[in-house]
Amino acid sequence: MIRYTQYLMPTTKETPSDAEVVSHRLMLRGGFIRKVASGIYTYMPAGLRVLRKVERILREEMDRAGAQEVLMPAVIPAELWQESGRWDLYGKELLRFKDRADREFCLGPTHEEVVTDIVRREVRSYRQLPINLYQIQDKFRDEIRPRFGLMRGREFFMKDGYSFDMDEEGAKESYQKMYDAYCRIFRRMGLDFRAVEADTGNIGGSSSHEFMVIADSGEDSIVSCVSCAYGANVEKAECPSVAEKTVGSKDAGPFRKVETPGRRTIEEVSGFLGIRPDELIKTLLFETSVGDVAVLVSGAFEINEVKVRGFLGAEWVRLAEEPKVRELTGTPSGFAGPVGLSVRMIADLSVRSIVSGATGANEKDAHLVDVVPGRDFEPETYADLRMVREGDPCPRCGAELRVSRGIEVGHVFRLGRKYSEKLRAVALDADGKEIVVVMGCYGIGVGRTAAAAIEQHNDADGMIWPISIAPFEVTIIPVNVKNADVAAAAEKLAADLDARGVEVFFDDREERPGIKFKDADLVGIPVRVTLGEKNVADGFGELRDRKTGETVRVELSRLAEEVMKMVARKKAECGA
Ligand code: ATP
Ligand code: MG
Repeated sequence: MIRYTQYLMPTTKETPSDAEVVSHRLMLRGGFIRKVASGIYTYMPAGLRVLRKVERILREEMDRAGAQEVLMPAVIPAELWQESGRWDLYGKELLRFKDRADREFCLGPTHEEVVTDIVRREVRSYRQLPINLYQIQDKFRDEIRPRFGLMRGREFFMKDGYSFDMDEEGAKESYQKMYDAYCRIFRRMGLDFRAVEADTGNIGGSSSHEFMVIADSGEDSIVSCVSCAYGANVEKAECPSVAEKTVGSKDAGPFRKVETPGRRTIEEVSGFLGIRPDELIKTLLFETSVGDVAVLVSGAFEINEVKVRGFLGAEWVRLAEEPKVRELTGTPSGFAGPVGLSVRMIADLSVRSIVSGATGANEKDAHLVDVVPGRDFEPETYADLRMVREGDPCPRCGAELRVSRGIEVGHVFRLGRKYSEKLRAVALDADGKEIVVVMGCYGIGVGRTAAAAIEQHNDADGMIWPISIAPFEVTIIPVNVKNADVAAAAEKLAADLDARGVEVFFDDREERPGIKFKDADLVGIPVRVTLGEKNVADGFGELRDRKTGETVRVELSRLAEEVMKMVARKKAECGA
């Protein structure tokens, strides 16, 4: 049992000005966290209790799935990252420093290298595989824009796990086990989530899913099918081929140049020419790690840079800036077009629907009309390179796709042999042959998950914790601690519940009832027991559900029992 008078939970009424999202505001107001530097926080006692609850569920489910807990260091020698090649690839997010002997180190943002090093040293034979090692550990990423409190911090706890198998088949099974464990984890935390297909980014690998908590404040956009189970990050969502040759005129003459003074954007140009946006072919120029590339797309759509990078197999791509655009087209940006352009050119599938259309003229204040793809220019290839849109057809079943916002709380990857090859992590197979092991990696942000739970469960008065991750299960509020009967009833109930293993927060302060109720609502403890002077004199107490606000009067003799029932019901709701 915790007594408020002996507990550091500095709640505040004021809304902190730099907190943009509700979870950040409420964690600060509830005295759960305090900022030390940008993206760096102290977890105060109540905040830490929540994190520990999240961690407990993580451990239980990881252990249940057969993973073994280890603890790797936060400080990692550069050599390991040089071996994998990431020392040079990882940007400024990687915090690098030197020790007194001038040796280089980094603070681990993720631990593929360290864990692969362990396995290559300690695992010799296929008999020791599969193996899955996980840890719950302090990560550091020097995020360019730390924000939203624990949601996007620089220093944060992550549950990261890594599986090692002899072959792809086994790796697939290990992946599925983690996928299933993640579903259980987020269900137990009472979260409304979707597992969606995700881009594999520069961690590399063949396939991946993100676990998204549905919330308007989410930084990610995801699509999900209204009819089937398909869901994907918009970065990844497939846009299958559209109808061929449906836009523009079939008997267009030779292309013509028209003046378009000052018109650069799709809206300006299509408005000026009196055509629809999808009758325009947009030409975007990219600088990439594999050279300059022009990417074409129907004016009705946007290019998806993640797909462009994936298609090119490039480490990075970025939209060309003015000097580069001038170098490639001879004009300022806004007038680029595919006709006569001598740079590698690829086109989105949407361009295939265009029989004839308008394009930039590679000349200031001019566009071309009646341009015919295949006749006037020929892209190297057509591929899915555009951004999905609300209402697009589902790539699996053809029904409509909806766009929603999500918070990425977990991520599972099939890594293949990307790291094991680089670091030579091999095991002997049954014939004594050396086989490079196949890996998977699996991450959950501990603090971000707690924050996501608040984003999903709150009201105007404060947090509404799912009981499985609440800082406490029950709060007891004696309305007037100076009343001896009230104090005695409260002490007795607290002791009873404590003895039965309930996590009790006892508000023993000499504060006005209004203040106690406000704090209880703010902190969001699922079950509240109020002991008022009149009720206690009549032999009653009051039981209140934080979530529904429902209040029942219960005889003191049955109070502990009723609290237990309510706690049990709430636990069952979380499947905890
Ligand atoms: P994001 O796209 O949000 O930057 P990420 O894809 O880089 O995240 P992963 O490398 O997949 O993240 O890390 C695994 C998990 O760690 C994420 O799903 C998230 O829950 C958590 N996480 C990542 N970055 C942060 C951060 N800056 N602050 C808090 N949690 C984080
Ligand atoms: Mg991720």
